[in-house]
Amino acid sequence: MDLCDKCGNPQIIIKKKQSGQMLCQECFIKSTNEKVLKDIRRQKLIEKGDKVLVALSGGKDSVMVLDILNNLRKRRIIDLMAVTIDEGIGGYREDGVRIAALNAERIGVNHKIVSFKEYIGHTLDDIMADSVDRNACTYCGVFRRWILNQVAREEGANKIATGHNLDDETQSILMNYLEGNIQNLTRIGVKSQSNYEGFTVKIKPLREIPEKETALYAIARNLPVHLAGCPYAGDSFRAKIGTFLKQISKDHPTIMYSTLRGFDKIKPVLKEEFSKTVPMEVCQDCGEPSTGKICKACSFRRLWD
Ligand code: SF4
Ligand code: ZN
Repeated sequence: MDLCDKCGNPQIIIKKKQSGQMLCQECFIKSTNEKVLKDIRRQKLIEKGDKVLVALSGGKDSVMVLDILNNLRKRRIIDLMAVTIDEGIGGYREDGVRIAALNAERIGVNHKIVSFKEYIGHTLDDIMADSVDRNACTYCGVFRRWILNQVAREEGANKIATGHNLDDETQSILMNYLEGNIQNLTRIGVKSQSNYEGFTVKIKPLREIPEKETALYAIARNLPVHLAGCPYAGDSFRAKIGTFLKQISKDHPTIMYSTLRGFDKIKPVLKEEFSKTVPMEVCQDCGEPSTGKICKACSFRRLWD
């Protein structure tokens, strides 16, 4: 009979394919919390006194980040708040916003809801109705980062925590490698390293947790999460790479870990060789940090003016 490796409980909820470890509900929650908090310490993602803003979509990953970082808030190590960005994706985002609010309310953290409509004057649906050449995720990612950075500054947060998990991170590595975007590869990591004062440091506390386990964590903790998929995600290159990685992981359960470890080893060499130190300027339109006179978000915004 299968028993929990930690306490002997016969009701196991996970048998980890990569390590063979079996855990019951309680031990899975405890060991996942310990692992994430240990990763945070080991990689120095958070320091005492930080004000951390969680980018809370309402999905399982960001809800889990909020739940785990709340331990540090309860121990008065950090100040914690959440922000939800409503991109304006009809029939999808409304539930995410509602569920995000429930999670913030449940633990009593300050929660701000901001929208594309309010910050850029258009919903993502409006933008896509007019767009012929670009993928929704391109606009969505650029505007989300732009808005997040502004909200963090408005709220006096010095760290932004996102829910990127192991699957997301290995997808990014593979996508950029396959597309030959070596410059982008040099920017992938557990913590953004921009020293420019207008940028808030971004951290990924779940970078070493597989997506399967973030889903299980939400169930085990009985956290309300938004499970629907974004209607724009279906045909993206990321989705194809995600499917490929999931498929190959069935026969090679440690492949995502080894991709990540290998990447982290070659990253310093890549940085040395390929990362350009681009002088930072201030965008002439919005005042946000930019690598040119006009930032990417404002160059998109100009398309509709
Ligand atoms: Fe935005 Fe693309 Fe994510 Fe949808 S899948 S929320 S469009 S980045
Ligand atoms: Zn700008």
